[in-house]
Amino acid sequence: MALTKISKKTKAKNATTAPAKGNENHLGMNAIHPLEATPHAAKESLNPFEAMIRRLDQAAKLMKLDNDVYQIVKTPSKVVEVSLPIKMDDGSIKVYEGYRVIHSTALGPSKGGIRYHPQVDEHEVKALAAWMAFKCAIADIPYGGAKGGITCDPKSMSVGELERLTRAYTAAMSDIFGVDKDIPAPDVNTSGREMAWIVDEYSKITGGFTPGVVTGKPLHLGGSQGRVEATGRGVCTAALEAIAKLKMNPKKMKAAVQGFGNVGSITAKHFELNGIKVVGISDHTGAFYNPKGINIQEAIQYCAKNKGVLKGFKGATSIKPEALLELDVDLLAPCALENQITAENAGRIKAKLIVEGANGPTSAGADDILNKKGVIIIPDILANGGGVTVSYFEWVQNRTGYYYSEEEINKRADRWMKQAFTNVWNVAQKQKTSMRIGAYIFALGKVATAIRSRGSY
Ligand code: NAD
Repeated sequence: MALTKISKKTKAKNATTAPAKGNENHLGMNAIHPLEATPHAAKESLNPFEAMIRRLDQAAKLMKLDNDVYQIVKTPSKVVEVSLPIKMDDGSIKVYEGYRVIHSTALGPSKGGIRYHPQVDEHEVKALAAWMAFKCAIADIPYGGAKGGITCDPKSMSVGELERLTRAYTAAMSDIFGVDKDIPAPDVNTSGREMAWIVDEYSKITGGFTPGVVTGKPLHLGGSQGRVEATGRGVCTAALEAIAKLKMNPKKMKAAVQGFGNVGSITAKHFELNGIKVVGISDHTGAFYNPKGINIQEAIQYCAKNKGVLKGFKGATSIKPEALLELDVDLLAPCALENQITAENAGRIKAKLIVEGANGPTSAGADDILNKKGVIIIPDILANGGGVTVSYFEWVQNRTGYYYSEEEINKRADRWMKQAFTNVWNVAQKQKTSMRIGAYIFALGKVATAIRSRGSY
């Protein structure tokens, strides 16, 4: 049994903005637009939803979006919180908090992953849901945005406990999820295994085999070729597009990648395949540096045999985790969690190009500092959209019953990512703003148009 609370509320506070001096970067973009700059508070708020709204406000002002529609675009449409009592292996009962936030369904059914992590809370899930809505708009796929999460420490739980928790969450959310309503996917600490449990539980509850209710499934349950690698592959494609615009040579570039799970390891793998020397990698168990370049295939194989973690990796020297982000590299790919680059460490970042594999890795305060330094940031809502793009292909395949080869999927995904990059690049150039604000302007425009044409009460 689960206790469900559904509310339609948002407590996002709009941060104040103050003008600052403009500053051209080497792309001719205004590194700091007057509307984008804020004075750094002594200690910046790292509430991810507030940080997202702060950037969204800047984009809305710059594009002169009318306030009526903006109120709708920025407010989550549904916030669901459930309590999940789970019988643990030792016979005791533990109650977990679960969330699902539907940010928008303006462009189609809502879409977004499910995260299992001790830090999951309402603010985080709300930010992640909004980012999904804007990411789908940028990727040009007919979805709104959502996100889910359970506050738990999956690494300390048995497989049986995780299965019971996943099934309880599915049962509690069974009236929220749906092929044409809301379609979850994996996120941090969830994978095809959890998606298979959700398909099974949801199919039992609704009385019909429904693989299209989630994406990121194993291949034998209707998963798509190319989905496992899609996000990291897209992060690399976005980086290569930026590298070409910046007239840099990937074969002469050094990179560091934070996070070595699905997104980080595959991003590093594709950097290596494209001749970029990956000199630093890390996960929550350790950070590693090798100035001659780390053999990424070797690191992936090491992790596979080492409970999925880098701890003890011998192909590089162990360094302090915080040093990874500050390495002397050209390209930095944060692919772990939110708020890794903040006003506190942004000044020490040496990379000229940052490509965000993770959602929300750069705080609003860090953006200001990096923009001032002329660092180009390819934002999460563009850079990691390759995953949801192939999730969309998976959903289409489930609905039509026709399945594509990996080559076809990868070709389409690459094409869509390049188009998304060009769209955002052009907006950023036209508005003389950063890629992040350009991405928000592009997404806001699309979602706002859909809201206007659908009308309201
Ligand atoms: P994952 O669980 O597979 O991997 C997360 C990785 O981050 C692990 O290697 C973990 O050890 C590492 N990590 C956690 N805390 C860390 C820390 N403090 N320092 C260094 N490393 C740390 O998750 P994932 O699917 O790779 O997701 C990573 C990020 O990418 C998340 O922000 C997620 O929302 C985002 N994302 C994922 C997908 C996807 O398809 N999986 C799509 C878009 C965005």
